[in-house]
Amino acid sequence: MSESVEKEERKPRHFIQQMIHRDLDEGKYGSGIVTRFPPEPNGYLHIGHAKSICLNFGLAQEFGGICNLRFDDTNPLAEEDHYRIAIEKDVKWLGFDVEDRTYFSSDYFDQLYLWAIELIKLDKAFICELSFEEMAEYRGNPKEPGKFSPSRNRPIEESVDIFERMQAGEFKEGTYTLRAKIGMTSSNMHMRDPILYRIQNAAHYRTGDKWKIYPMYDFTHCLSDAIEGITHSLCTLEFEVHRPIYKWLIDQLPTPSTPYQREFAKLNINYTLLGKRVLKKLVDEQLVDGWDDPRMPTLSGMKRRGYTPTSIRNFCDRVGVAKRDNVIDLSLLEFSIREDLNKIADRRMAVLNPLKVVITNYDENGEELLDAVNNPEDETRGSRQIPFSNTLYIEKEDFMEDPPRKFFRLGPDREVRLRYAFFITCNEVIKDDSGEVVELRCTYDPLSKGGKSPDGRKVKGTMHWVSAKHCVDAEVRLYDRLCQVEDPASEKPEEGFGDVLNPDSLKVIKAAKLEPSLVEAKEEEPFQFERMGYFCADRDSSDDKLIFNRTVGLRDSWAKMGGKK
Ligand code: ATP
Ligand code: MG
Repeated sequence: MSESVEKEERKPRHFIQQMIHRDLDEGKYGSGIVTRFPPEPNGYLHIGHAKSICLNFGLAQEFGGICNLRFDDTNPLAEEDHYRIAIEKDVKWLGFDVEDRTYFSSDYFDQLYLWAIELIKLDKAFICELSFEEMAEYRGNPKEPGKFSPSRNRPIEESVDIFERMQAGEFKEGTYTLRAKIGMTSSNMHMRDPILYRIQNAAHYRTGDKWKIYPMYDFTHCLSDAIEGITHSLCTLEFEVHRPIYKWLIDQLPTPSTPYQREFAKLNINYTLLGKRVLKKLVDEQLVDGWDDPRMPTLSGMKRRGYTPTSIRNFCDRVGVAKRDNVIDLSLLEFSIREDLNKIADRRMAVLNPLKVVITNYDENGEELLDAVNNPEDETRGSRQIPFSNTLYIEKEDFMEDPPRKFFRLGPDREVRLRYAFFITCNEVIKDDSGEVVELRCTYDPLSKGGKSPDGRKVKGTMHWVSAKHCVDAEVRLYDRLCQVEDPASEKPEEGFGDVLNPDSLKVIKAAKLEPSLVEAKEEEPFQFERMGYFCADRDSSDDKLIFNRTVGLRDSWAKMGGKK
């Protein structure tokens, strides 16, 4: 990154940057700020998480601090190690090096247990024996105060004893909980003697069956932050109501640091499902080809589709950080992808819907190599040679037997330019029994080599092509938005997808014809197929069967059509 670009991107533009500037000016954090990204290993990361990652790691970079990757893993029922592995990989892929700063809330279970006992001893927590249903009744509602649990005045020693026996596995799930002793009148329901620990007879993916009790999010998160010396604990708006309990716990316990929580708006994108639970449902119901299906808004899906880490980071930067919820247009994400790919993707020629063209005045056995520029945006990418022969393929849509006035491509008796090759004129149209055009017979002008006019005469159309003898076959997968409704979350997808999903989100072309050099394409290596969009080889592509994914079209086809297909 050049210095000026770096500066441009680092202007304080949002309220969190301003807050940190203020904190640093006041000398609050002499040794620098510490942030964290705290995923639960219960699914794959999606573009919403990318926003949080870019924010937390970005702030640390900007202010000379550090950012931890902390797995917030306190729910043994949902968490699995393969999710942890995928998350670590995705964070790295996005461009952030966590070095040795990977932490786990589950590593703090011993300390959290000791603090729980300490809280009981401070008479700030007690063992409650209400069932979860009773507790809900006792809790009241935001307008009416709740009732104290009958266990609230249990002697401290007795609470400590039961807590220890809960951990020893003496009781069944649901029989006892540890609750904070705050009160039952707060208008914030999270402050009404909230549960801190519950019994859970489930093995944890890291701690095995060591623990019979597990701490709740509210107890775990703030204390884990304090253990790690987090200065700014940034989370999304739905946690705003948890801020008082966060502060309360930090105030009660002798933690090694005093972090505080601030909230920012979640990233929402139209036509896009976010939320790990809903994405998991898509995977479990096999409505997509796994978490890394290129239509998924997951980082692994985007990677497989050919989105670049740079473009995702640029997108997150453009979206900014707001205090209120908003919805971002999907076209902004696609714009960021195109912007990056336009700079870095080498150009190639590929015919997705082939029509045969025979050049009648070209030697039947002849062939020659023609120079083609790799990337007009980047001279250093140089050029390559592409083979030409007497039989070619062009795009079916590039020919019309009876073209309207504004159609500048090929038609009977018309002349067009074949990119990097020659001018050709169509002399004859061959059809099959059903009347479909199956072949064109053309002549070429040998003096127009390189696609240059030999005498100043002009042609209106320039078309891509491949040599039939030399090209390679490939399956090409064209993706469209996964959802056909603008605000899929409002359709309650967690209960069922109904009409939310776009039935045309994947179109497979079985035998596209590609320029031979594409055999060498590596996974994630981006290409622009001239006039067709950006593509990359799929991870399942092999020497026996080439498979390409379309990353994104060359322009926003939805905008052009007024939002409709
Ligand atoms: P989901 O909403 O997908 O279920 P989550 O919040 O349950 O996600 P976590 O693994 O708990 O997933 O989240 C890790 C971090 O990512 C949290 O700090 C959370 O606030 C943040 N995060 C999750 N979704 C978004 C989003 N859409 N935009 C910004 N940050 C997000
Ligand atoms: Mg969560």
